[in-house]
Amino acid sequence: MPNTSSPFDLSGHVAIITGGNRGIGRSIALGMARAGAAIAVLARNKEKNKQVLAELKEIGVPSMALHLDVTARETLSEAIDAVKADLGRIDILVNNAGSVSVTGGILNESPEVWDITMATHLDATFLLSKYAAASMVKQNSGKIINLASMYSYFGAKLVPSYGAAKGGIVQLTKAMAVELATHNIQVNAIAPGWIVTELTELVRESPDYIEFNKMILARTPAARWGEADDIAGAAVFLASSASDFITGITLPVDGGYSVC
Ligand code: NDP
Repeated sequence: MPNTSSPFDLSGHVAIITGGNRGIGRSIALGMARAGAAIAVLARNKEKNKQVLAELKEIGVPSMALHLDVTARETLSEAIDAVKADLGRIDILVNNAGSVSVTGGILNESPEVWDITMATHLDATFLLSKYAAASMVKQNSGKIINLASMYSYFGAKLVPSYGAAKGGIVQLTKAMAVELATHNIQVNAIAPGWIVTELTELVRESPDYIEFNKMILARTPAARWGEADDIAGAAVFLASSASDFITGITLPVDGGYSVC
């Protein structure tokens, strides 16, 4: 019998998506659910968690939503254990939770903003990956997907801690990829271009950012902002067996912004 299953099929796999209750994380959660994965969404807003859980139930996969603040580092190990207890295993971890404070540069940026940005993006990615990888090593398989950014490559004048954290994500992705490769765990990152979500609302809506917004569109060969759903396909690919020989990369999903 020929093997007719899709290389993108995630049936029988369990995926954790931090910040999976809106924006890019929600699209990734729904995309992976449609590919057959059981989904755990980890985020803070209980109402939004409930909403995405209802969408996941409608797709028909096993799912759970856990209230989690990824900066509460003492709770992260427990969260990974709770997913394992409820859904049985962990095959895929998407470190997506993120926030940004537009401070205008280091002259204005407070140490508090720096700390919370690092904790949200970099510390949480390190710790959740560490705890999930311990479980993946035992089963000799796993996929970790981290959210990078165009600011992983380019100077983030207005949001320096965000740029530093996203630069760090690329190097952490490579380090984990090299370490975990012989355990059949692939670690990759996605670098979205400019995507329509709450995170970028200020840039799209504020009159102060009209020129900046024009620059974004002029520099994006696709000549449009991306949608959250534009990221889901890349995430499904990097979570699936179709990408088993790909590790340590940062994949731009940016309408061409990074090559222009
Ligand atoms: P949104 O603001 O739309 O969503 C952010 C998500 O992260 C929400 O689900 C939020 O849920 C969660 N979150 C934020 N802080 C925490 C926290 N401390 N603990 C747990 N969850 C948290 O942003 P996007 O969807 O745009 O961003 C998703 C990722 O993509 C981020 O890492 C971002 O940096 C990255 N990215 C986005 C780009 C864009 O153009 N939009 C471009 C490049 C990268 P809750 O508040 O309920 O906790």
